[in-house]
Amino acid sequence: MNSVVENLQIVRNEIEISRSKRTIEKNAPVTLVAVTKNHGVEMMQQAIDAGVADIGENRIQEAAEKFKSLNREVTRHLIGHLQTNKAKQAVRLFDLIHSVDSENLAAAIDKAAHSIGKIQDVLIQVNLAKEDSKFGVYEENLQTLIKTVDTLQNIRLRGFMLIAPNYSDVENCRPLFRRMYEIFVEAQKTRQNFDFLSMGMTHDYKIAIEEGANVVRVGTAIFGERIY
Ligand SMILES: *Cc1c(COP(=O)(O)O)cnc(C)c1O
Repeated sequence: MNSVVENLQIVRNEIEISRSKRTIEKNAPVTLVAVTKNHGVEMMQQAIDAGVADIGENRIQEAAEKFKSLNREVTRHLIGHLQTNKAKQAVRLFDLIHSVDSENLAAAIDKAAHSIGKIQDVLIQVNLAKEDSKFGVYEENLQTLIKTVDTLQNIRLRGFMLIAPNYSDVENCRPLFRRMYEIFVEAQKTRQNFDFLSMGMTHDYKIAIEEGANVVRVGTAIFGERIY
C-alpha cells in the first residue's frame, strides 16, 4: 500500500490532468479537501505535513477530538449532514459548512454564529439526483432556500455542494456535474463572494473537475479504505 504522501502526489497529479482537460474555468485552481473521517489524527497530521491545507470531517465529535491535537492551522470543512442541535459546535469548529439544506438548519447556524460574533461561510448541498439516501435540497426548492439564507446576517453563502450517486459507470455522473455547474454559474452572475463548487470524491473527482468543480473532497484515494 502506498503512503499518504505517495497517494497525495498521485491525486494532485490527477487533479492537474483533469484541470488541463477542461474547456471551462480554464485557469481556476482546484482546492483539495483531504477527507480524514474515520482515520486517526496521525493520518490527518501526515497529510498536513505533506502540504494539505484543507481538511474535511463529517462528524462533530470526531472532528473536535482530532482538531485539538493539530500543530498547524488548516481550513476546516464540515462535509457531512448537520443536525440543528449541533450548529453551535459546528460554528466553533469549522471554517466552511458544506451541508446546509434547509431553512431550519440555516437559521440555527445563523443564530449560533451570531452568538459568537462570527460570519459563518456555508455551501448549500443540492440533491440533484433526488436520492432518498442523501441529504440536500431539491433543485426546485433551491432558489427559495437561497432567498432565506440571504436574509440571515451571520451566514454567508459561498457556493454549492453536490454528492453524485455512486454509479458503477462513473460517466453517468457527468450530466449531474454539468447541470450543477450551470446552476452555479447562473447564481454567480448576481452574487458576490460566491465562488465554491464542491463536487467530486474518490470515484468521481476527475470528471467533476472536468465539469467545473473547484473544490473536491477526497478520502479513500489518499488514506485508503475506511474501516467502520
Ligand atoms: C466521505 C465523504 C467524502 C470522501 O469520500 P471518498 O470516497 O473516500 O473520497 C466526500 N464527501 C462527502 C460528503 C463524504 O461524506
